[in-house]
Amino acid sequence: EPSHDFIFRSKLPDIFIPNHLPLTDYVFHKFSADGDGDSSTTCIIDGATGRILTYADVQINMQRIAAGIHLFGIRHGDVVMLLLPNSPEFALSFLAVAYLGAVSTTANPFYTQPEIAKQAKASAAKMIITKKCLVDKLTTLKNDGVLIVCVDDDGDGVVSSTDDGCVSFTELTQADETELPKPEISPDDTVAMPYSSGTTGLPKGVMITHKGLVTSIAQKVDGENPNLHFTANDVILCFLPMFHIYALDALMLSAMRTGAALLIVPRFELNLVMELIQRYKVTVVPVAPPVVLALVKSPDTERYDLSSVRMMLSGAATLKKELEDAVRLKFPNAIFGQGYGMTESGTVAKSLAFAKNPFKTKSGACGTVIRNAEMKVVDTITGSSLPRNKSGEICVRGDQLMKGYLNDPEATARTIDKDGWLHTGDIGFVDDDDEIFIVDRLKELIKFKGYQVAPAELEALLISHPSIDDAAVVAMKDEVADEVPVAFVVRSEGSQLTEDDVKSYVNKQVVHYKRIKMVLFIEAIPKAVSGKILRKDLRAKLETEFSK
Ligand code: AMP
Repeated sequence: EPSHDFIFRSKLPDIFIPNHLPLTDYVFHKFSADGDGDSSTTCIIDGATGRILTYADVQINMQRIAAGIHLFGIRHGDVVMLLLPNSPEFALSFLAVAYLGAVSTTANPFYTQPEIAKQAKASAAKMIITKKCLVDKLTTLKNDGVLIVCVDDDGDGVVSSTDDGCVSFTELTQADETELPKPEISPDDTVAMPYSSGTTGLPKGVMITHKGLVTSIAQKVDGENPNLHFTANDVILCFLPMFHIYALDALMLSAMRTGAALLIVPRFELNLVMELIQRYKVTVVPVAPPVVLALVKSPDTERYDLSSVRMMLSGAATLKKELEDAVRLKFPNAIFGQGYGMTESGTVAKSLAFAKNPFKTKSGACGTVIRNAEMKVVDTITGSSLPRNKSGEICVRGDQLMKGYLNDPEATARTIDKDGWLHTGDIGFVDDDDEIFIVDRLKELIKFKGYQVAPAELEALLISHPSIDDAAVVAMKDEVADEVPVAFVVRSEGSQLTEDDVKSYVNKQVVHYKRIKMVLFIEAIPKAVSGKILRKDLRAKLETEFSK
C-alpha cells in the first residue's frame, strides 16, 4: 500500500472494543454480574400497546425463546428469517437467534410473496418468525418444510391455536432456558444477514458477524467520550424499520448497550409519533429525510409538547442543507445531525454534535469518520487517494465491515479490496474540519425514502415480459421520495405494449417503493462494449426530457 495515502480518522481517540464477545453478552454486559445496570429499568416500551419490558424481562425472554427454537431444531449457524413489523417480538426474536449462535435474515414484512420466497430460499432459512396476518404469503415455503412461527395480531403476543400448522410464539417464550447449554460462539460467526444490492446487481445476503456488529455499536456508544452519547435515562424512538441495519444497529442494539429505553412504533404516522413523544417524554428521535420533510411541513408540531427531545439523528439518504436548516429552526433545543453508513459497512460516519463533549458541526455534513476505523476518498478513475476538499469514492476500513456476501465471493471481492478497503459507491469529500459531505452516488442503487431499490431486480422482471426485448432502470429525482425508479424499455417488434401494461406487470410483483413510476420506450439501451448499461447516459436523457 502506498505510504502517501491520504487517510482520515476520527478526532476522538481509538478505544478498546471487546469484540471477542458474542453480541448478546456484549449488549447486556451492563446487566451481567460485573455490570452496574439495574435490570428492573425499562428496556422496551411497545408503542402499539403500552406494554413495558424491563432489561430482566428481555434477557429471560431471549434465553427462553432461544431454548424454544432450539427445541424446534434450530442450531448454531442456521438461518431464521424475521418477517415482522417493528415490535417487541422482533427485538426478542433477533436477540434469541443471536444468543443461540444462529443467523437472523431480516425482511420487509410488506414484501410480496415472491420477494419473500426469493430471500427465504437464497438464505436457506429453516424457520420464519412472522405475524398471523402474513402467514398466507408463506404457504409454499411451509409446504417445502420451512417452520413457521407465528405471533398473534392482537398485540398481546398470545397465540392460542396452532391448528394452522404454525408454531406459536408464546409457546417459544415458555421453553425452559435451563435446558439450553450456553452455545459456543466465535467472533467471526454471522449473526445478522440483511439483504442489500450493494454497489451493483441483485440483492445479496450481507454476512454481519458478532465481531462486526459489536465493533459498530462500540464505535458509536462506548468509551469515555462516546461519539453517540446515549445514556440510561434516554427514551429512544424507533419507528424506522428494524429489518434495516440502521434501526437494528444504531437504535435497538445501541440503546440496549447503554441501558436506555427503546420506544418501538410499528410505523411512521406523524401525529401518532408526536403524541408518543409527548406521552413518553422521548429524548432521542432518529429520522430519515422524508420524516424531516413531514416534520418541517406539519403545522401540528405546535400542538404537542416536544420539548423533551434533545437529539435528532438523520440517516439512510441524503438530507438537503435547506431541510436540515429548517428542522433546526423548528427544534431549537435539540441537537441535530446526520449519520452515514451502509448495510455492508456498518456506520461510516456520525456527527460529532452527538458526542458527549460535542464539536461544532455544519449543516449538510453527514458526520465525521467513526473511531477505530479508517477512511479514504479515491479518484474513481485512477484509484489513488485524494486530499481534503476533493471528491471521490468513499472507502472505509475496520473491524465493523461485513464478512462478505453469502455465496458470492466475486461480489465480495468487488466491494472489499485485497487491502481490506470497502468501496461504498458513494461520492463525497472531507472538508477542513474533517466533516464528510456526500455529493453523488456512483453505484446503481436507487433510494426511495431511504429504502433500497435495486435496478437489476426490476430489469430482470421487465425482461421476463414476452413483449420486452431489453430494459434499464434508473433513478429520477423526486421531491418527497428523493428518488423513484423509472424504466427505459425496448419493445419487441410489432408489440403495442403501453406504459400502463408495463407498470401493472411489474408493480404487482414488488413491494410499493419498488414500483416503476414512469416508462420511456426507447430503440436500444445504451451499453458499453462490456455490455454494461450506460446509466449516466440514461439519467442525462431523463434530465433533458424534463427540462424541455
Ligand atoms: P443501506 O445499505 O440501505 O443502508 O444504503 C446505504 C446507502 O444509503 C449509502 O451507501 C448511501 O448511498 C446512502 N446513505 C446512507 N446515509 C446517507 C447520508 N447520511 N447521506 C447520504 N446518503 C446516505
